[in-house]
Amino acid sequence: MPLDKIKPPFSLPKLPYEENALEPVISSRTISFHHGKHHAAYVNKLNELVAGTPYESLPLEDVVMRAAKEKDANAKAIFNNAGQAWNHNFYWLSMAAKSAEPTGRIKDAIESNFGGLQEFKDAFSKAAAAQFGSGWAWLVKGKNGKLKVTTTSNADTPIAHGETPLLTCDVWEHAYYLDYQNRRPDHVKAWLDKLVDWSFADQNL
Ligand code: FE
Repeated sequence: MPLDKIKPPFSLPKLPYEENALEPVISSRTISFHHGKHHAAYVNKLNELVAGTPYESLPLEDVVMRAAKEKDANAKAIFNNAGQAWNHNFYWLSMAAKSAEPTGRIKDAIESNFGGLQEFKDAFSKAAAAQFGSGWAWLVKGKNGKLKVTTTSNADTPIAHGETPLLTCDVWEHAYYLDYQNRRPDHVKAWLDKLVDWSFADQNL
């Protein structure tokens, strides 16, 4: 699924692994609701909202970036659903059934920007825990080319701010509540240690 050319009408992408492949960190029940209900609802609502508007023929990234600049309620609704559709597409690809330590270019970039993998994990965990309410924790390449950890609220996304996402962890409660209830930090720790697809981050670098 190339993420830079997602054409309308938008569809729910197939998961790159089985629903139970991320257990025990994320249960198949969570994945089933998260992908099949939450993500699907954003995609369906987006198609409904863009029908008959100038957004109808734009690729998903362009819908996100254009709607981010508009102020009316309709554009806000389009932004929320397009942002969530894009963020979830990116989230599924940020995880692998068989996670491995970063190697090569991404390993070097993590070391030079954070001081080491553990320092990166500490910064990411802290940011994810501090994100108030719903949102996303990200590893991004900023406008200056440096890697950093950031968070966005609700449907907001680094692509609306000129930053290049490398990885994301969904910190909306629907991503972890069935498995971890209110223990978001435990979920994020397990996610960082067991699920990150570093080869995906490397491709995005
Ligand atoms: Fe989500």
